[in-house]
Amino acid sequence: MQETQHAIRHTQHPMRVAIVGGGIAGLATAYYLQEKARQAGLPLGYSLIESSATFGGKIVTDAQDGFVIEGGPDSFITQKPAALHLCRELGLEEQLLGTNDAQRKVYVLEGGQLRSLPDGVMLVVPTRFTPFALSPLISLPGKLRMGVDLFIPRRSEQSDESLADFIRRRLGQEALDKIAEPLMAGIHVADPERLSLQATFPRFIQLEQKYGSLIKGMLAQKAHGARHSRNGTGRKASLFMTLRGGLRELVEALVAQLEGELLPGTRLTGLAWASDGPTSANGRYCLRMDDGRTLLADAVILATPSYTAADLVEPMHPALAAELRAIRYVSTATVSLGFRRAEFEHPLNGFGFVVAARERSRLMACTWTSTKFNQRVPDEHLLLRAFVGGPRNQELVALPDEALIQLVREELRQVMGVNATPVIARVYRWPEANPQYDVGHLQQVDHIEAMATDLAGLHFTGSAYRGVGIPDCIQQGQHTAERVINELSQRRRPVDEAAAQP
Ligand SMILES: Cc1cc2nc3c(=O)[nH]c(=O)nc-3n(C[C@H](O)[C@H](O)[C@H](O)COP(=O)(O)OP(=O)(O)OC[C@H]3O[C@@H](n4cnc5c(N)ncnc54)[C@H](O)[C@@H]3O)c2cc1C
Repeated sequence: MQETQHAIRHTQHPMRVAIVGGGIAGLATAYYLQEKARQAGLPLGYSLIESSATFGGKIVTDAQDGFVIEGGPDSFITQKPAALHLCRELGLEEQLLGTNDAQRKVYVLEGGQLRSLPDGVMLVVPTRFTPFALSPLISLPGKLRMGVDLFIPRRSEQSDESLADFIRRRLGQEALDKIAEPLMAGIHVADPERLSLQATFPRFIQLEQKYGSLIKGMLAQKAHGARHSRNGTGRKASLFMTLRGGLRELVEALVAQLEGELLPGTRLTGLAWASDGPTSANGRYCLRMDDGRTLLADAVILATPSYTAADLVEPMHPALAAELRAIRYVSTATVSLGFRRAEFEHPLNGFGFVVAARERSRLMACTWTSTKFNQRVPDEHLLLRAFVGGPRNQELVALPDEALIQLVREELRQVMGVNATPVIARVYRWPEANPQYDVGHLQQVDHIEAMATDLAGLHFTGSAYRGVGIPDCIQQGQHTAERVINELSQRRRPVDEAAAQP
């Protein structure tokens, strides 16, 4: 790639990093890069290149007529603390908003009816006897089969297995069909028969190995959690949290901290070795933007979907591009509907429902947003959010807005008896947005990272690799920033030492 007279010139910093993709992973990478460079005393500049006009990627919050509507994620889990820590570090403590846990009830659409998940079920594992025994969701033979988990020996093999195989082995087919598939595979928008246990629920493997049983393990963890909270260590956070004005506040707070060059509305279209590469560990890259400008960088972090990263590295490393492209994605859409409370026929007494695979419904799930969180609706109104698409019904995502809204209204009429007319309706499409962590995913990512060492200074981060949740993406950004700072500090040393000679 020729460097043109349009090249963006950066003379003030000896080292420059380009971060491509301004979703939460790219933003977190930029933030930690800036912080760690300062701590290391490393003079460093960076450019954050984002093709959309705004930062945030899949984090999209819209405010309309008093409704706060999330188009993508609506909350983050606090068991993985990276997102909570970052919010606090950014001064968003007062904005943190937990779920309305007094109303925590999740329903499963099964046999055409909404049946509540028994109290005490943690993910798929029952931890309270009476509500579980009384629940109509699972048949008596199904319950007895789940109890057999207490006696099944732990697995001795180390290889990865699918979530479905694991749940079937420990808790039986009914637990898979009625709880694990709709609930856990729903979180990952994935087929449980293909979903990697190691990459998505490693905690289950640890519990099985440590306690020899999921039920024993979950009970032990619950007891530990209760003791921990009684000891009063720190402020108790709700399991899922968001921000009062929506997750967009996290994006805005991050962007406000960034001192590097921010390039929204700029798509990276080409990546190549600069004219002085590809010699050694001192790789330098030339990046070409869609407006014809170019930029030179000592390190490049691709925080885009992996198929975009594949297109970008293809000319330099076709084998690596093929590995990146092998990570599959599926498409989804969310449809938010707001109603007047007085016209609404359902009590919305829970956080919403998930749909078992055998149901004929065209929905994957529906969140009863105004019950799950306060401060999402104007007075006397309600908000729901339906999920359409995923591995079972991807083609639906391509429907026009009006058809999607009608589809959701029709499903809600059948499932919940809702006939009211929405006062607000918003559709968000997420084509090729959910990376699929198939069995063997972590080994594939290890392989990608090993191959990427051929391209010194090039890094991959974000939801395609080591966790899809917001906390996972933030943590990956933090780790990537650390790696880049270490790498650039090593490169700087000989120059600095030379400069220090009399
Ligand atoms: C509907 C939905 C609901 C979800 N719900 C939750 C939830 O409740 N909680 C949770 O923790 N997670 C949830 N997730 C997952 C989570 O939101 C995502 O995994 C995460 O936001 C992805 O962040 P990212 O930075 O890796 O990728 P993205 O957000 O996809 O960011 C990648 C960025 O790269 C940019 N880009 C792409 N190509 C180029 C290019 N050539 N040049 C420049 N820029 C480029 C894109 O425009 C984009 O902004 C949800 C996801 C979806 C789709």
